[in-house]
Amino acid sequence: MLFRSPIRFLKGIGPTRAQWLAKLNILSLEDLLEHFPFRHGHQGPAVPIHILTPNQPATVIARLTDLQRRRGRGKHSLLGMLEDGTDCCLIRWFNPRFLANKLQIGQWPRVHGQVMPTDTFLQFINPRVEWLDGPDTGDDAQRFEPVYPATAELTSRHIARLVKIALEAGLPLVEDWAPADPDAPRPTLSRQAAIQAMHHPDDPNQVEQARQRLAYDELLLLQVALGLRRSHAAHTARAIPIPVGEKVDARIRARLPFVLTAAQNKVIAHLVGDLARTRPMNRLLQGDVGSGKTAVALYAALAAVAAKLQVAIMAPTEILARQHFHKFDDYLKGSRVRRTLLVGGLGDAARTAQLARIADGQFDIVVGTHALIQHDVQIPRLGLVIVDEQHRFGVAQRADIRGKGSWPHYLVMTATPIPRTLAMTVFGDLDVSIIDQAPPGRHPVETRLIRPGGDQALWPIVRQRLALGQQAYIVYPLVEQSEELDAPAAIDESRRLAATELAGFRVGLLHGKMKPDEKHLTMAAFAAGRLDALVATTVIEVGVDVPNATTIVIHHAERFGLAQLHQLRGRVGRGRHQALCLLVPGVDNPESRDRLDLLTRTSDGFLIAEEDLRLRGPGQIAGSRQHGLPELKVADLGADLGLLEAAQRHSRRILAH
Ligand code: ADP
Ligand code: MG
Repeated sequence: MLFRSPIRFLKGIGPTRAQWLAKLNILSLEDLLEHFPFRHGHQGPAVPIHILTPNQPATVIARLTDLQRRRGRGKHSLLGMLEDGTDCCLIRWFNPRFLANKLQIGQWPRVHGQVMPTDTFLQFINPRVEWLDGPDTGDDAQRFEPVYPATAELTSRHIARLVKIALEAGLPLVEDWAPADPDAPRPTLSRQAAIQAMHHPDDPNQVEQARQRLAYDELLLLQVALGLRRSHAAHTARAIPIPVGEKVDARIRARLPFVLTAAQNKVIAHLVGDLARTRPMNRLLQGDVGSGKTAVALYAALAAVAAKLQVAIMAPTEILARQHFHKFDDYLKGSRVRRTLLVGGLGDAARTAQLARIADGQFDIVVGTHALIQHDVQIPRLGLVIVDEQHRFGVAQRADIRGKGSWPHYLVMTATPIPRTLAMTVFGDLDVSIIDQAPPGRHPVETRLIRPGGDQALWPIVRQRLALGQQAYIVYPLVEQSEELDAPAAIDESRRLAATELAGFRVGLLHGKMKPDEKHLTMAAFAAGRLDALVATTVIEVGVDVPNATTIVIHHAERFGLAQLHQLRGRVGRGRHQALCLLVPGVDNPESRDRLDLLTRTSDGFLIAEEDLRLRGPGQIAGSRQHGLPELKVADLGADLGLLEAAQRHSRRILAH
């Protein structure tokens, strides 16, 4: 009760301060206890006055031997004299409203601040003061002052005083939420000690220990909540089971022009297990670009069709939806599986007719964009939904795709490796399968970092490869000149390149502001080899598949996340020739060079994603913000995998009880 009660009832706070605190989202005692400093400032040990040097911060403990109120030009100030037996100095505050009644001659304050010269003495201006009982300091060691997130009305020091009130009132009531779990060792501090130490650590190392303990609790709570949500879903949602017997399995495999890899088979075993249940499958399939997710999706789709159910396959863009359709179509040549592509550009009448046929159950597989799940599309025997998100995660839309009376099984695929910590939290209500092996005969994309302005080195390489009949993507981060960003626009660049560096080659242009038809035509021309080079903004990033494209040049590479760059370079290297990715930073600084350098050293998507998470935080990882995950106060998904794993084990035990 006390923890949750409004902060204004706390002794010494009242309505005005409560309003100020509300701006920091501090509404209750608990919020104030958990308003942690973002760092601790050093005050350094107290020193004798005679060694003070001007223009340096310092701390002294000394007796206040004189104190005068001054008034000049409407301003109040307080001027005092400090003596510690070695020497004396001045102490001065301007507008000392708060201090006026507290200072008395004879006190021994601990004073910390900048030391300024005057004509006569050194002086402290507006220093911080702490009152001690006497000259005996006890702890003359370094002091760690909490520095709090603050506002215009509430300074960090002011907040520190309010937090002290909160600690006095609330800390004794803080308890551990659950006894420690023997299988899940948590940091040894108690929750109570950890909260105390976050504000006032005995030494700096204690802050990290305390943070870990509180992060553990935060992650434990999250895991328990996710576990409850999953078990709730398991008990309420019903799906039509899709059994896969030996005959169906053999028939599906016979459709594929290759033998599935061990990694694909492992994932298929997960899917077959899920599909057989009356609880809807809810699985995330991760696999690098080109790892063979589509074949796995096809397997699941054909299993559903064999069970006389319909399948919806969705992609984030029309280009991708078409591409999926054609891939499926190829695999299904000569089969009786009825499939259709539903994208924009149909006339109203044609669209209505197509929707009627879908609603009538005349198609087994319907491929489209997310528009598929819009309300006017009825898929009566919908048994399985496959979503290819490539680099996005659109799980939020899932709730809309209910079949009649039962839930479809749900498979979402992504080519962006999701770091373990995010998979366990943001995507925690999905089961995860990973294809961690490429089909035979793949070579990683060779990646080179070009110096900014290194065009001399760059274009001859590109020309040489184009002259061999291979194709290239040339990527820019922006569509048009913009005042904020000085990236050369793809539009301007395509003209310039066609006239200069790539003169004699056929250069096309693809950007996000083009109409879907135009995009489709350009993509088709590139895929058919009627263009040598495609200047593009990141619209190409989502899963476009042209095996003859062997080269990708990425301008202003530092503006992209590492995972996104990895995704982009996955556009090449799908064919027989050694693929090349040339990263051209727009600025030359050691940080972006170091960051980009990782890509030249590894093609391990997970490693790259972990690094991205560490550098940019989970909010930047595509889509994870949309998931309504509460903001974590202390846990760090870039660093706390070990804690998260322990908390997850612990949560399972709690839920089992
Ligand atoms: P993803 O969807 O994961 O990017 P795809 O399913 O499009 O990958 O597969 C990429 C390429 O690899 C396709 O040309 C596909 O035919 C081929 N492929 C997939 N699985 C295998 C396999 N087991 N053996 C050989 N080639 C495969
Ligand atoms: Mg794919």
